[in-house]
Amino acid sequence: MDVLEYDVAIVGSGLAGMRAALQASEVSQGKLRVALISKLHAMRSHSVSAEGGISGVLYPGEAGDSIELHGFDTAKGSDYLGDQDAIELLVNEAPKEIRFFDHLGVPWNRDDSGRIVLRAFGGMSVPRTAFAADKTGFFMMSALYDSLLEYGNLDIFHEHYVTNLLLDGGVFRGFLAIDLASGDPKLFIAKSGIIATGGFSRIYGFTTTAYSSTGDGIALAYKAGIPLKDMEFVQFHPTGLIPSGILITEAARGEGGYLLNNKEERFMERYAKSKMELAPRDIVSRAMVTEINEGRGLIHKASGMKHLLLDLRHLGDEKIDERLPMIKEMTIKMLGIDPAKEPIPVRPAAHFTMGGIHTNIHGQVMLDDSKTPVEGLWAAGECGCVSVHGSNRLGSNSLSQCVIWGRITGEMAAKRASNTGEPSDTRSKTVARAEEEYNKIVKLLDNKGTQNPYELRSKLWETMDTLVYVYRDTKSLMEAKRRVAELKRSYSDIYIADKGRVYNTNLRDALEIGNMIELAEVVIVSAIARKESRGAHAMVEYPKRDDANWLKHTLAYRTSEEPRLSYIPVKITKWEPKERTY
Ligand SMILES: Cc1cc2nc3c(=O)[nH]c(=O)nc-3n(C[C@H](O)[C@H](O)[C@H](O)COP(=O)(O)OP(=O)(O)OC[C@H]3O[C@@H](n4cnc5c(N)ncnc54)[C@H](O)[C@@H]3O)c2cc1C
Repeated sequence: MDVLEYDVAIVGSGLAGMRAALQASEVSQGKLRVALISKLHAMRSHSVSAEGGISGVLYPGEAGDSIELHGFDTAKGSDYLGDQDAIELLVNEAPKEIRFFDHLGVPWNRDDSGRIVLRAFGGMSVPRTAFAADKTGFFMMSALYDSLLEYGNLDIFHEHYVTNLLLDGGVFRGFLAIDLASGDPKLFIAKSGIIATGGFSRIYGFTTTAYSSTGDGIALAYKAGIPLKDMEFVQFHPTGLIPSGILITEAARGEGGYLLNNKEERFMERYAKSKMELAPRDIVSRAMVTEINEGRGLIHKASGMKHLLLDLRHLGDEKIDERLPMIKEMTIKMLGIDPAKEPIPVRPAAHFTMGGIHTNIHGQVMLDDSKTPVEGLWAAGECGCVSVHGSNRLGSNSLSQCVIWGRITGEMAAKRASNTGEPSDTRSKTVARAEEEYNKIVKLLDNKGTQNPYELRSKLWETMDTLVYVYRDTKSLMEAKRRVAELKRSYSDIYIADKGRVYNTNLRDALEIGNMIELAEVVIVSAIARKESRGAHAMVEYPKRDDANWLKHTLAYRTSEEPRLSYIPVKITKWEPKERTY
């Protein structure tokens, strides 16, 4: 086995992973050896598709904005499940990160005087989202990637699929990966590790996310004995394009777009009178599904899907071309719809996963309910639940979270690596463990099973799309649990059709599908247990938030049976939970 030794190994090269790599390189002045590992080419990471922008109070005091108000909006948006110490950190650091990216060269939209322009986003009291047209993620990623190339200490491993997280007695030792080009295993032994592998919305079929958003890093942590936090909270973005689920950014409503039903009514008036289409996503998505369920939706002819309409016609060509050029390009290419002339068919699509690896405020991965971190391991970005978003993320807060905790974890990982000696005494043990794990993967290739993994994935998508959608009820969730348990059994009998080594995407997909089934089970079991409606978790039988019993984070531990759940308190610093109206 090829064994590579690094000071810091980072899995995931989205905004969180690249920001961590840059910080680790900067604080060590290019002295520490850093490995950045990605199952895709680094620049194909999902972050490149972030559209609408990044939040942060750039001009406190103007338009009534303040850091405090950003914090309040985020806590309220989270339906008070966000940890408020982490929220305070987010809102304090966000403006600095936007300026940092300004210095890296991101072409923010500016006004005539050269100031960065801010746009409105759902659940934010005032416009505070900086943006680069509707391609913000792409420009931020390009700026990071270009900066990283200047560091000779950093090796980027494109198209390396990490299969295992290796821990030893609560201490991080390394990551095992398969080099997709050759099929050969590579063991990355490092003093510090960071997981930055993104979210898992791909457990749904109708989603705005890439095929790669399979939650691998979260599943690897879970399999290594680390608890997952708040997994029942999956965000449904109101405007997934019909029939693919491709995102129509919330910025389309931020720029003034309306949502209409089949009577051409702006129905949001009935659900969020003051914020209308710019209420937080949980509220808009619930409203949309209610409209559809009560017969005020439309039916898309080609797919038969029920939907509503996003109307941008009144914005006019000029504004659409300046602020939403990619949306226009997409709707024309996908549906032949020019948004300046016709409304766009949309419905809520799985978009973002609030839950993930249980971390403390520093992004350190936690081993249990209390205060025991895994030594030398951090998680940043969408895979890490720190938790700033609680039960419902506000749009544009994710990019801030990714870069802030990317920076924090990169710095901490570098510091630990600088202060830790060579792990030579544990090296042979780690190599032996990696070889054992790799042999299990090779065996999978020889498996003479009967189950096609892609069929299992289709069944998973069907189950999640229909039974674990915006509104849930115990009966549907129990049925989803039964079906996913069945998929888990079938998965142990899969076969991999491609027996080759070079770019065996068949094998990679099968491993991803195994991870997705594992995570879907945690989502469902955590959802069944939570007997209230909060943020993205809307239970028909329990329509109200119940702070007396449920103002707490769920933790899920892997067992040989179903996940074991326990709960930890939410940190409230200054915003007492109260009724949420918009
Ligand atoms: C279409 C869309 C638009 C969005 N727009 C916005 C927006 O405007 N503003 C906002 O705040 N948020 C937005 N979001 C959310 C935001 O983009 C994401 O939460 C964020 O980009 C996630 O970044 P990340 O660094 O955590 O992970 P990602 O960018 O998802 O990167 C994950 C990385 O992990 C790697 N990886 C995963 N598994 C493995 C493995 N097994 N082995 C090796 N590597 C692995 C991948 O190759 C990739 O490099 C949007 C989301 C979507 C879906």
